[in-house]
Amino acid sequence: MPSIKDYKIATLGSHSALQILKGAKDEGFETICICMKGKTKPYESYKVADRIIEIDKFDEFFTLQDELIKEKAIIIPHGSFVSYIGPKRMNDVKVMHYGTKGILEFESDREKEREWLLDAGCRMPRIFDKPEDIDVPVIVKFHGANGGKGYFVANSPEDFYEGIKHYPGNEKYVLQEYIVGVPMYTHYFYSPLTEELEIMSFDKRYESNADSIGRISAQDQLDAKIKTSYTITGNMPLVIRESMLPDVFEMGENVVKASRKLVGKGLYGPFCLEAIVDPNLNFYVFEISARIVAGTNPFVHGSPYTWLRYDEPMSTGRRIARDIKMAIEQDRLAEVLG
Ligand code: ATP
Repeated sequence: MPSIKDYKIATLGSHSALQILKGAKDEGFETICICMKGKTKPYESYKVADRIIEIDKFDEFFTLQDELIKEKAIIIPHGSFVSYIGPKRMNDVKVMHYGTKGILEFESDREKEREWLLDAGCRMPRIFDKPEDIDVPVIVKFHGANGGKGYFVANSPEDFYEGIKHYPGNEKYVLQEYIVGVPMYTHYFYSPLTEELEIMSFDKRYESNADSIGRISAQDQLDAKIKTSYTITGNMPLVIRESMLPDVFEMGENVVKASRKLVGKGLYGPFCLEAIVDPNLNFYVFEISARIVAGTNPFVHGSPYTWLRYDEPMSTGRRIARDIKMAIEQDRLAEVLG
């Protein structure tokens, strides 16, 4: 019988690597952490990596490929991996890779992503073609914005032109309806082996300074001329109203179904729908991440939802490793590689 002892799980040391590697070890895999020099401490301290390969820059990943192939390493992509390699170069990744590489191009292209999510029936914030069309508050999102830094809200065309003056050189932006509500990020897992969609957990982000300006009065905010930024600093666990769960399952299932029209085997493994929920409990999805998100990091020991299903600690990282383990043992590894 094929054995997991013949394989290793590898990822880049960043983002959700602690959870991925810990989960892989819990499932019995040997692990490899590819890490930037000077950033190895967490992976040593938490003892999640059987081997740490240090590199000077992320491009060196490509020179390591032959060695990783020889080791029968399976790469788990995460946000930093995709962002450092770049969605276009994902096809140059020759090492075994968990998930459909092509799908990552859809999450990183706002237009392609929008078509996909609308096709899946998701409710999304309106998009305005030009500033003159602004008739409700909009959030101005610059392309390639680093973690929500420099987004601003405008209420009218005049407001927009006033605001944009503070961002010289940023010609590429999207004008998205600003949804008044609470952010809610759903972490899903779809296994191509069991053909079942699971809800793993939910989080909200802890964003600086969006999450701190409410601590001072509106007058002080004006006096200090504070500009809201959404730089992510961490993630907080959430449990949602139980009556909302059926809709959340349905949304995830529709997104998986719609993805099959896009590329290869479509979307499987971990993914996240990022939404704002308004007071009428409508989910406005503004983004999808088609791979593990850092919002799953609070759940290294599992979430209330995984506890219901597994009765053992089950992080998203571990769930990935279990999928791979099941695939190897059933001689179906090709089904989870892409
Ligand atoms: P990425 O997750 O791809 O790095 P980002 O962090 O640059 O993207 P977004 O996730 O698009 O930026 O948005 C940052 C934050 O702005 C969100 O967490 C949310 O709080 C807020 N936000 C985004 N879109 C909207 C919207 N349409 N209405 C209200 N708030 C929004």
